[in-house]
Amino acid sequence: MKSNFNYDDFVFGVQPTDHILLCNYNDGTWQSPRIVPHTDIKMSPMSLCLHYGQTVFEGMKAFRQDNGQVIIFRPDKHFRRFNASLERMCMPAVEQDLFIEGIKELVRLEEHWLPEEQEISLYIRPFVIATEPRLGVKVSDEYLFCIVCTPMGLYYSEPVRLKVETEFVRAAEGGVGYAKCGGNYGAAFYPAQQAKIQGYDQVIWTDAKTHEYIEEAGTMNIAIVIDDRLITPKLSTSILDGVTRSSIIQIAKDMGMIVEERKVQLQELIDEFQSGKKIEIFGVGTAAVISPVKCINILGTEYHPYIANDATMFKLKKQLDNIRKGRISDKYNWNW
Ligand code: PMP
Repeated sequence: MKSNFNYDDFVFGVQPTDHILLCNYNDGTWQSPRIVPHTDIKMSPMSLCLHYGQTVFEGMKAFRQDNGQVIIFRPDKHFRRFNASLERMCMPAVEQDLFIEGIKELVRLEEHWLPEEQEISLYIRPFVIATEPRLGVKVSDEYLFCIVCTPMGLYYSEPVRLKVETEFVRAAEGGVGYAKCGGNYGAAFYPAQQAKIQGYDQVIWTDAKTHEYIEEAGTMNIAIVIDDRLITPKLSTSILDGVTRSSIIQIAKDMGMIVEERKVQLQELIDEFQSGKKIEIFGVGTAAVISPVKCINILGTEYHPYIANDATMFKLKKQLDNIRKGRISDKYNWNW
């Protein structure tokens, strides 16, 4: 355990661990990676990433299991998504060895940031930025791949109030919504800020063309439980293929639920609420696993999804936590 770090009171994402991994891309290939003590990185103010947004990142977690062993959760799936994002941004693919072995090596070095008893995880952030110093608008010929880590506390997500966004757009079909590129996040701040002013924690994004179908909840995928059905918008070019989404889908199937990956219309939700049915709505993502929605504003009317302790979403979360902590069998080999 990191002796001089206050695990009882810290803000997520501020404290770096001791080391970073760095690897440069030039002359058409990734060079030798190096792990060095955490340091600032130097680059030209003319670096292409600063002007035209060629930046891609991932976010995953490592956990210490009850038996003391440290595992990384589904790095292979994060690796595939990383390269899909890189491809969409015209950035060079990272080899599997560089990505997975790099993360493993770094986590080995930073294991002592994961205390035995506390519910602390290690958040791992690999990213690539375009570093060629040139103001002309072009695809960069030089890149930096870097991995930084930061400790993360037990992330209990307070039930949230969400507003269905029908004016602003996160992503359009054919755009970059399925890629984890920096611009998607910068562009989402303003609508989220407007929703905050109106008394909501975040927005639920709808499709860019008709605003009739829900897509994601802020920076999480969205899921709905009605009876024994788990319903979640089908993946498309405007939806990020969340690792938590895919894990929750698998767990729901194992629990005997019917999983429906399909378009979800606002009117359908309104009808379900008006029928008086018990409806659970929640965000799913690496940070909180699930984020219960206690209030949803659909076209100006507020509805109140079910969030009591016996809600199915908490059972799904518990099951995922149990797999990651090694309390039940990891039959899908999610733990590396
Ligand atoms: N959608 C968006 C837009 C995201 O940024 C994220 C990650 N925070 C997710 C969904 C959830 O993905 P994951 O489960 O892989 O964290």
